[in-house]
Amino acid sequence: MAKKVGTLQVIPPKKHNFSHHDISHNAIKVIEGLNRAGFKSYLVGGSIRDGLMGCNPKDFDVSTDATPEQVRKVFRHSRIIGRRFRIVHVKFGREIIEVTTFRGESTDSEQQVESSTGQLLRDNVYGDMRSDALRRDFTVNALYYSPEDESIYDYTMGIKDIEKRQLRIIGDPLTRYKEDPVRLLRAIRFASKLGFSIEEKTAAPIRDNAHLLTHVPPARLFDEVLKLFLNGSATATYSLLKDYQLLDSLFPSTMAVMDKSPYFEALIDAVMINTDKRIRNNKRVTPAFIYGALLWPAFIYEQHKLVENKVPIIPAVHEAAEKVIRQQQAFIAIPKRFTIPMRQIWELQWRLALRTGKRAEKLLSHEKFRAGYDFLLMREVAGERLNGLGNWWTRFQDAPEEQRESMVQELQPKQRSPRKRKASPKSHTL
Ligand code: ATP
Ligand code: MG
Repeated sequence: MAKKVGTLQVIPPKKHNFSHHDISHNAIKVIEGLNRAGFKSYLVGGSIRDGLMGCNPKDFDVSTDATPEQVRKVFRHSRIIGRRFRIVHVKFGREIIEVTTFRGESTDSEQQVESSTGQLLRDNVYGDMRSDALRRDFTVNALYYSPEDESIYDYTMGIKDIEKRQLRIIGDPLTRYKEDPVRLLRAIRFASKLGFSIEEKTAAPIRDNAHLLTHVPPARLFDEVLKLFLNGSATATYSLLKDYQLLDSLFPSTMAVMDKSPYFEALIDAVMINTDKRIRNNKRVTPAFIYGALLWPAFIYEQHKLVENKVPIIPAVHEAAEKVIRQQQAFIAIPKRFTIPMRQIWELQWRLALRTGKRAEKLLSHEKFRAGYDFLLMREVAGERLNGLGNWWTRFQDAPEEQRESMVQELQPKQRSPRKRKASPKSHTL
């Protein structure tokens, strides 16, 4: 029998495969603590979705009818955070369990503030489990689990959507995207991460409403955009972002010049593939590298313009980096701790070509050498012809000292002869 959205369906333990063992002990402790204090509480969101899909859930969110203040009183090591949504973080060593109070349905109230575009600026109206489910973003994210009866509580037919492997927004799609345009990005993120299709009505308004993203505070976009590329399916995510034309609102300066060189798109693709591979192999991925690739086209274009206007290469590199980063901050607020290494990676692309005398040896101990070298390899993978520069550095790093000296010496005549000069700082993509 077809169920209506908002009707509760309780799935008993025999009828689902979500296992108690998938849950962090600390999340159970939080739920038990709240229940003992007389409140209702459930595990909710991504952990149930991932558990049902057979992936290891990583973070655990709890939803309850206790207010943030009441939750705060139950757990000593907890604090209330956030303004837009007030939530409580309960700390257990390095693990944090996020506890949210059931949200209510939209009403006019001081606790719920809307902008002129329909964006919810504050949303602290409390309600019950049903209204909480209906205020969540996608049906597959609105499933609740009770460790007490081991049942799953489903108000939005989320279980069905998991079976159908489809992502469906709850409620009227356009209203929900307007309320919080970040949901446009979340649709892409979950579809690619889970390998789900985006249900037709959920997908329909995305392209035409991409511009709404420009109303999201740049600081919030920094986190959300990073999550898009760090979940192990950056390649699929990037391609969906392109399909849905969301990149113009995130990286306008890059998108404006993307078709000026075939290497631009190829470099970003190569970095996305490499990022996924590193995550699969539990290697570190730095945001500076990812943002460095996404902004590389804009940076090269600016730098090229300056050189054409007779600005010497080194000041041109600095000036172009400065300008691209400054303009990008209006869309995505990339913190200084990432823009500094990003600039260093870009600058190294020129310095790595200058290897004579003591330069190559010195560059090896540059704090960002590794990232700069990796970036160089990515450019070569993208098809840029750099005259074997990447390979030279690969050999140079592993060579014993005497061999390094001779490698540098072999370069001298080549670099002096103007006719044979290759891989010079000027050789570039445009
Ligand atoms: P992940 O695996 O990326 O952590 P998640 O589903 O747990 O996925 P979170 O960002 O941790 O995502 O959010 C937890 C839950 O809060 C979501 O599952 C969803 O129910 C709800 N939620 C998060 N962001 C929004 C939003 N912008 N609008 C509505 N509901 C949201
Ligand atoms: Mg989560």
